[in-house]
Amino acid sequence: MIPYGHQNIDEDDIDEVIKVLKSDWLTQGPKVLEFERALAKYGGAKYAVAVTNGTSALHLAYLASGLKPGDEVITTPNTFVATTNMLLAIGAKPIFCDIREDSYNIDEKKIEKLITAKTRAIVPVHFSGQPCEMEKIKKIAKKYKLAVIEDACHALGAKYKNSKIGSCKFSDLAVFSFHPVKSITTGEGGAILTNNREYYEKILTWRTHGINKDAAGKNIMTELGYNYRMTDIQAALGASQLKKLDKFIRERRRVVSWYAKELKNIKDIILPVELPGNYSSWHIYVIRVKDKKKRDGLAEYLKINGVGVNFHYPAVYNHPYYRRLGYDLKLKNTEIYHRTCLTLPCFVGLERAKICQITGLVKSYFTFGLSKK
Ligand SMILES: *Cc1c(COP(=O)(O)O)cnc(C)c1O
Repeated sequence: MIPYGHQNIDEDDIDEVIKVLKSDWLTQGPKVLEFERALAKYGGAKYAVAVTNGTSALHLAYLASGLKPGDEVITTPNTFVATTNMLLAIGAKPIFCDIREDSYNIDEKKIEKLITAKTRAIVPVHFSGQPCEMEKIKKIAKKYKLAVIEDACHALGAKYKNSKIGSCKFSDLAVFSFHPVKSITTGEGGAILTNNREYYEKILTWRTHGINKDAAGKNIMTELGYNYRMTDIQAALGASQLKKLDKFIRERRRVVSWYAKELKNIKDIILPVELPGNYSSWHIYVIRVKDKKKRDGLAEYLKINGVGVNFHYPAVYNHPYYRRLGYDLKLKNTEIYHRTCLTLPCFVGLERAKICQITGLVKSYFTFGLSKK
């Protein structure tokens, strides 16, 4: 089975992890600090905090933004559930905005009419690694005094108008994940980048139980915190992986160019596009099959032939849990999108021959009438 995503670990990565295992520090120590500095430098932000995963990173970023129970937060339904689950965890209410037809990102033109007296923040998600229209989103946020928290879990290594995602040039905080299918991995892991010193210090405190040192150097608990610490074992892997990030993104982009070349003449499908000004990190490669029956048929056909396809994402508001909360939405573009999307394998180390095998199956499905069954 060719999976839809896969990590790329080499001997250098393994050596770095072994060094930590032989050292005195296994939990958060010098490697976490080293990884954080490298991340901040890479992203172009002043501060970075490494944590246990992207979900805990979202939790702390939302807390740092000052979100409180009852606050409304505008975001996209085309995301992994963690984006909005962490809003619910702090009592805030996700308000779902429809997506664009071209990038499948939040439609910035539809944000403003969702703003109420309770709105406090906007959470753009750079779906598939393609940056959202951050300049326009920032402008709206400024006008209504809203926080902007980027769920950049897909977008480490991506650029928007020549600024790295992570620079927080158009946001208050940006959140990343280092799950094995993401741009780089630490096994489980995540990080928050920001240029705001106050947020940075708060996040450091919350990461470790809300404990701080008082003037006499004694440990005191000053906030309700958590244990969201990353281990040095993970950070060693992260720091080693980060050195290869730009190469990884170039390889992902090459995979995408092979797909584009092989699939360009199939009229039943829509290929993903990179909008002007964007440099996508291509976390996932999503094609759309115009007809839902054919999409389901193609997915089945690829699966039985060993291709690990996936569907990113079912609209968050359609999950049973969200429906039980009372969400009863049908956003037009989102509904069309999730009936027709199909994620094909895309990761570092996926060879051209494998792409031809996959695209060969797609072509035979549409050319030999298999799609009519
Ligand atoms: C992966 C992901 C997360 C969660 O990250 P974890 O590290 O798995 O907790 C959140 N949001 C999006 C968009 C993601 O893709």
